[in-house]
Amino acid sequence: MGRLSLEALAKRKESARRKERYDFYAQRGICPVCGRQDAALGHVYCQDCLNNKKASIEKNDPGFEKRKTKKKERYDYRVANHLCVDCGKPLKTKYKRCKKCLDNIRFSNRVWLLKKKLEDEKNGGKAKA
Ligand SMILES: [Zn+2]
Ligand SMILES: [Zn+2]
Repeated sequence: MGRLSLEALAKRKESARRKERYDFYAQRGICPVCGRQDAALGHVYCQDCLNNKKASIEKNDPGFEKRKTKKKERYDYRVANHLCVDCGKPLKTKYKRCKKCLDNIRFSNRVWLLKKKLEDEKNGGKAKA
């Protein structure tokens, strides 16, 4: 095993500390970026930080806007032609997604809620004081 330089050690310590802080907030449903606001539903970050992140992605990635437009075009095309907006299959229902894609969304929402519930219980048990 090679010896780590002081700098590498400090970096490692710093990233561990950051990870700890991140987990601390994320587990409590608080945004780890600002540490002040509740996380947005289905996200780790709060709505403000999500918006900031989005803005910085758009700034650093000039193709982002273009891809977004393309995605939106595809979405509109699918809605207009009554196709599932996720997989593009013809729809039999009034929904914008086919049953399979709806189930996928419902499933991931359920998993997220369940995870949050478990975390809450875990944290609730710990924070007795
Ligand atoms: Zn935030
Ligand atoms: Zn679909």
